[in-house]
Amino acid sequence: MGFDRLLFADFQPLALIATTPTGAQRLQPLNQLPATTLWVSESLSQIEGVQTYSGSLSEHLANIWPDCKSLVFCLATGAVIRLIAPLLQDKSCDPAVVVVDEAGKFVISLCSGHQGKADRLAQLVARQIGATPVITGASASLGLPGIDVLGVPFGWNRGTGDWTKVSAAIARGELVRVIQEAGSTLWQSHLPETHPFDFGVPEEAIAPQARVWISHQQVKSRRGAKHCARTKVKSQDSTIPEVRWHPRVLWVGMGCERGTSRKLIAAAIQQVCQANDLAEDAIAGIATIDIKADEAGILELCGERCWHLRTFPAEILRTVEVPNPSTVVEAEVGTPSVAEAAAICAAGDVSQIQPSLPTPLPWERGAAGGVRAEECWQADLGLDRSPTLKPVQGRLLVSKQIFCFDTEDRLIQNPKSKIQNRQGAVTVAIAQSQLEYTGRKGSLWLVGTGPGKLEQMTPAAQTAITAADAVIGYSLYIDLISPLLRPGQIVEALPITQERQRAERAIALAKWGLTVAVVSSGDCGIYGMAGLVLEELQRSGWDGKTPSVEVFPGITALQAAAARVGAPLMHDFCAISLSDLLTPWEVIEKRLIAAAQADFVTALYNPRSQTRTQQIVTVQQIFLQYRHPSTPVAIVRSAYRSDEEIAISTLEKFLDLPIDMLTTVIIGNQSSRTHADWIITPRGYNSWSSFTDCD
Ligand code: SAH
Repeated sequence: MGFDRLLFADFQPLALIATTPTGAQRLQPLNQLPATTLWVSESLSQIEGVQTYSGSLSEHLANIWPDCKSLVFCLATGAVIRLIAPLLQDKSCDPAVVVVDEAGKFVISLCSGHQGKADRLAQLVARQIGATPVITGASASLGLPGIDVLGVPFGWNRGTGDWTKVSAAIARGELVRVIQEAGSTLWQSHLPETHPFDFGVPEEAIAPQARVWISHQQVKSRRGAKHCARTKVKSQDSTIPEVRWHPRVLWVGMGCERGTSRKLIAAAIQQVCQANDLAEDAIAGIATIDIKADEAGILELCGERCWHLRTFPAEILRTVEVPNPSTVVEAEVGTPSVAEAAAICAAGDVSQIQPSLPTPLPWERGAAGGVRAEECWQADLGLDRSPTLKPVQGRLLVSKQIFCFDTEDRLIQNPKSKIQNRQGAVTVAIAQSQLEYTGRKGSLWLVGTGPGKLEQMTPAAQTAITAADAVIGYSLYIDLISPLLRPGQIVEALPITQERQRAERAIALAKWGLTVAVVSSGDCGIYGMAGLVLEELQRSGWDGKTPSVEVFPGITALQAAAARVGAPLMHDFCAISLSDLLTPWEVIEKRLIAAAQADFVTALYNPRSQTRTQQIVTVQQIFLQYRHPSTPVAIVRSAYRSDEEIAISTLEKFLDLPIDMLTTVIIGNQSSRTHADWIITPRGYNSWSSFTDCD
């Protein structure tokens, strides 16, 4: 349940509703989750672990509806529709509603598929109970991420706009202009081949039917974009529907008098944002000097707005070049700048909270040709910037401004002289980071996908792959798991030789805040990616918690191969990889001799490659010294895949058969024997019972 808790956390409180014993039974696996209640009518009170409601189900639903994040019904869809109809308000606030049929064949995402995450819940429930998820949203059938959930993995804030009209335009396949001025463009490289988005064709050429802004700026003006040649905005554009996402790239640098009120800080930030066309929704957090870490007004505001608070010591802040240093400030706190320096530090140093910035892979770059934030930075944003300022990543957008309230609590900007007001005084500057702050604790899921067929993969592993924001693995395995992938996922297939890059990339994305599934065939902890990822994490100074790690076991090749030929592993066995790429051959040879001597059934991974052909011959010679030439040997190629080949031979003859890198070879022990097409390694019951018989 540990992993399930993690997966379903987003959907709680979760209400399960059944009206029959079969329905209740169907939903019982989900009833183990925390913050979950299985509701049944009083007549079914004898069922274990349920809660009963009295009166009508519709009354009961009306009572629990406001407190539920999600509801899963095991009931006819029509009945559910009638029950929930009077309760529905708006897709931005309605809970996820999912329906499971009594036979447990289908899980329907009925309502609030995107923002309520019912689509995701339906997929998770379906994986858990082995059913087919039914997702009828238009974007899902087009293989596209819902436009109203696009930025969720990256922690973007949903801004204003006509989400229904833009979604409808996307569903109709109409041209939708995307203007991305901030935030990661990773999503653009993971769209299906045909999609309605256009990332930079001049609007004069083809008129779009809708527009998606991904920006740190607010609606009113788009000066930055106007100056970006590729995103010229025509006046009639305002007639087409638009939506706005705000990646959290703005860091508010702040200095303040002790005891400055939350109200003044909020008013100052609002004023600076408005004056500079910046969206408050694009604020990642507040940055200040460490002695302000306990400043009540700042803490209150950060808590309220879910902003991150970052503090820096004076020794760091004083190293930052700023446009408006102050000797007075320096004399007071030991750095000539707090607000500007802290903003630049926070925006340029996202690595402290999200180390290892994910850079696009070579083959991703420019894939969709989107307008990148950096390109817009080339343009004049029309905001205060010092020509001498050269921050590496953080870019000062607004130089410091001082605010206080006058005696009648009116906001005064840059007062000429000190005004006495108990609400204090605050200095605000704003910098932009290149990479957005996701505000999420990333996870690495190390997933074993089994030998081939999906049925051979555990439901937990399948669920993890569907649920992850990003899936990384060797291309062949990505193909095998393609039915589990969902629109909007970042799927990166890397060539087989690039294990280290795969691990580093996965770690970078997870440290950034994404949930990343790293897939290995078989078991990921057996000659798979789990060890490498953990090693790399250790090297990077990982604290063992962030990103969180979860390992999903899978059926390894030796189990799969054994299952195809009977029970060769019925007694003590070992696995030896013949690949000497990462292990010196002398070590491998020593282990082979030890295994042969100790009479272990021995499974050989990576037995023979095109260039490495001699090792398997040496194996035969070693084993013939300790085992009879007639010892059974299984040669299983591509177990549970469409090109599966199975052969049973002997230690003396097995080299006559084709063996390659898709093959696992199992050498029996001294007691292993064949019967028809099967290999049996006795467990010892028969000899043991005859021994007791004699006793
Ligand atoms: N992590 C994998 C092993 C990777 S090493 C696991 O746990 O199964 C790669 C080797 O595994 C191959 O050279 C082959 O020896 C074996 N192998 C992997 N999949 C196989 C399959 N479906 N059938 C037979 N052997 C397989």
